[in-house]
Amino acid sequence: MELINIKGIGPKTLELLNKVNIYSIDDLVRYYPYRYNIYTPSNILEANPEDTIVVTGTVTSNANVFYIRKGFNRLTFTLETNNINIKVVIFNRDFYKKLITIGKTISLIGKYDKLKNTFTCADIKFKPIFKTEVEPVYHMVSGLSKSTLIKSIDVALENSNINEIVPTNISSKYNLMNTIDAIKEIHHPSDSKRLKDANIKLKYEELFEFMFKINLIKFKNQIFDDFVVKDIDDSTINKVLSYVPFELTEDQRKAFQDIIDDFKGIKRMNRLILGDVGSGKTIVSFLSILLNHECGYQSALLAPTEVLAEQHYNNFKSMFKDLDINVELLVGSVSKKDKEDIYRRLEEGSIDVLIGTHAILEDKVVFNNLGLVITDEQHRFGVNQRNILKNKGQFVDVLYMSATPIPRTYALTIYGDMDISMIKQKPAGRKEIITKQYKFSEIQEVMSSIAEEIKEGHQAYVIAPLIEKDDEETNELNDLKAIKDTILKYLPKETKIDILHGKMKNVDKDKVMNNFKDGNSNILLSTTVVEVGVDVKNATVITIFNAERFGLATLHQLRGRVGRNSLQSKCFLLSDKDSERLKVLEESNDGFYISEKDFELRGSGDLFGIRQSGDMVFKIANLQTDYKILLQCKKDTEEFIKDNIENDFMNYKYYKNILHQLMEND
Ligand code: ADP
Ligand code: MG
Repeated sequence: MELINIKGIGPKTLELLNKVNIYSIDDLVRYYPYRYNIYTPSNILEANPEDTIVVTGTVTSNANVFYIRKGFNRLTFTLETNNINIKVVIFNRDFYKKLITIGKTISLIGKYDKLKNTFTCADIKFKPIFKTEVEPVYHMVSGLSKSTLIKSIDVALENSNINEIVPTNISSKYNLMNTIDAIKEIHHPSDSKRLKDANIKLKYEELFEFMFKINLIKFKNQIFDDFVVKDIDDSTINKVLSYVPFELTEDQRKAFQDIIDDFKGIKRMNRLILGDVGSGKTIVSFLSILLNHECGYQSALLAPTEVLAEQHYNNFKSMFKDLDINVELLVGSVSKKDKEDIYRRLEEGSIDVLIGTHAILEDKVVFNNLGLVITDEQHRFGVNQRNILKNKGQFVDVLYMSATPIPRTYALTIYGDMDISMIKQKPAGRKEIITKQYKFSEIQEVMSSIAEEIKEGHQAYVIAPLIEKDDEETNELNDLKAIKDTILKYLPKETKIDILHGKMKNVDKDKVMNNFKDGNSNILLSTTVVEVGVDVKNATVITIFNAERFGLATLHQLRGRVGRNSLQSKCFLLSDKDSERLKVLEESNDGFYISEKDFELRGSGDLFGIRQSGDMVFKIANLQTDYKILLQCKKDTEEFIKDNIENDFMNYKYYKNILHQLMEND
């Protein structure tokens, strides 16, 4: 049955419904109330004057209407309740006049003023309320009356053909209500226990469907690809681990173990390492490169900027200088001749590891036998770019790294098609970065603190919100030049300041960055270009001007530029504004906690800089409050897919045959 066949829904109503995305009977019955009014009749003698109450009684006079001025009228009558006769007033409902007749029993909702013996109504219910009643409240469809909406929903309910989405065994395991009963209960609550059960069922169902889709995509991506089992024994793993110059944290070890398991498994690895800034994701990726090399495959590491690519390249080379492993750097600024040489040796198989920027995505870059692709700061790359690299080899495992901690629930949804390893711990010996907000009037204090660090031989970052002044009128310290002039007033003359910003040429950026890394300058004054990944261990203090102009994620990332060794580091947030966000930073160094707070402060929609997709708009579930149900659904859908789909494919030969058939049919 179509919506248009419902009595009361004509073309005009249909159009109105379409506007709120109701196109089918199913959409209509799932147009759920967003809250409920609860009406409990009270005894008028016991009412507080400020409480909104419900009283039921009998009309004892006809209604009078006073037209006060245009669009403003008052209707009055009297009503007997609890053996007293009260005056009743309601505004702008002159159309109720003919409904108010002597002897009729009705209910009033509003406030009672005992002294004046007057009840001021917010609403009148002509169906009297004798016991507690729950009334659903809907987001109104503009142009459509509430009664038409409710009647249409009721007709739709009678004619709907609702299928159960949740498999029977799961439904009975949790004792879930039938969907159709749940939907009826949602629109016409019978009691609070049943209403609660109905809610649980519909939330579970919605999240189950969502997680099922995600897990199916994940399953398909992995199983319908070519795949290869990498042969790895314990001695290889131990050999690789012995090259690490420090003790791995527990989380790093777990993440590496996840990768080992993925390598060994028949499915293509599609794993995200989600770690806080400075948690040490890089070493985990290096270990997987070594392991992949031991298995006889080439690896590629894609970084979002030249500075980062170079940093990875240099780290890799120095960390594993004693190993017989050929690593090359391919970035835009490499000369044409050197590039050609890299292309040739890569295709030939004499380069084992290629580290680079977008330059490694080009068609000319052909691998001999690529087995592992790693993308650092994965949110900076689009899906297409990631796929290009994945498709450069037949048996490619994929590892993503992201330093944007997001709440766990969102990780499950945004990155739902990936497996996730979280690195929460910081390497041993790290101190919390002391973070404090200062007003501009206290700038002296901040500057002497910086001067002290520099005297100790440490380095400092200073962050400017803007490259250039955006408005001649303001005296705010936002741009690089104004900030440089200001800080120089407070610091010794010989202080060396280097400037870095996004409009500079890459070669110049690298020059500045390397100069700072090598300890040749005391202060790096920069815009947010240093935000991602840059690792200068000797930097111990970062000062952010007008910090309230940045989002929490950015501030947390910026702060992560310091605190990269065992020295005590500091972060100064200069801002004259009182901001909740800055307080969150003062209070915590934990990116995951901060992301939860960010979510609370900003609500859903724009989360930690990552926009939610349309698929993530839920009708009844709420990712924040229904997080436990979501986790359960993740588990249940994974099991369901495993039991019902995956197990049938597990036989290698059987699977291969199907794959061949599928490919031939293409
Ligand atoms: P991020 O996760 O932000 O990318 P990095 O991988 O750059 O962090 O690591 C931050 C710093 O910590 C690097 O200098 C790295 O060498 C160091 N590091 C990583 N793991 C450990 C560890 N287990 N013990 C000591 N230092 C470590
Ligand atoms: Mg990193």
